[in-house]
Amino acid sequence: MDNEKLLSRMHGLKNTFTEKESLLTSLDREIGDGDHGVNMKRGFNAVNDKVTAGSTADILKQTGMTLMSSIGGASGPLYGFSFVKMSSAAKEEIDQDNLIELLDIFAETVADKGKVEGGEKTMYDVIKRAPDLVRETGKLNLDALQKFADDTEDMIAQKGRAAYFKEKSAGTIDPGAQSAVYILHALSLGE
Ligand code: ADP
Ligand code: MG
Ligand code: MG
Repeated sequence: MDNEKLLSRMHGLKNTFTEKESLLTSLDREIGDGDHGVNMKRGFNAVNDKVTAGSTADILKQTGMTLMSSIGGASGPLYGFSFVKMSSAAKEEIDQDNLIELLDIFAETVADKGKVEGGEKTMYDVIKRAPDLVRETGKLNLDALQKFADDTEDMIAQKGRAAYFKEKSAGTIDPGAQSAVYILHALSLGE
């Protein structure tokens, strides 16, 4: 994926998050404060407005900075900082090996910043499985990513606002796991 394609994928997430706003809102209403749909839409509206052409690294960095400053809530710094960190390892064209490297950084950054482990019902449960999906299939297929998010449904939340719901958090897909599906799909090669 070259820088032009990456830019159009990042801009395109504005439409994705406009379409998915109500789904993300309803998930976050069940096990949070109901703002995840609005947060993600605001974040990628800002990316569409502010992120302009540049190298692959520039685009990833600008995307991260924009997400950090425009998404309120727990998800903004986690996604924002991850994109900034990924920018420092990006090649001019993202090939399969580089994508795996970037996704490893994405997962490490979320684990580090969020102090989160697998099985705690967060975005990390999807992101941590992305590098292996690329190793195995070469892509970040939407249906495969959705299965990872679906696997958070039965988990009991241990992090973020959803943790206050304790056992009652089971039965709802984690909102951040669901938004991670769309962000990761936008990074897929060849889709
Ligand atoms: P807030 O909870 O502040 O309203 P959002 O609704 O935008 O923020 O984002 C909630 C999502 O953030 C959760 O569904 C979860 O995936 C993710 N999240 C929250 N806390 C953490 C954490 N410590 N580590 C990883 N992800 C987290
Ligand atoms: Mg919320
Ligand atoms: Mg909030």
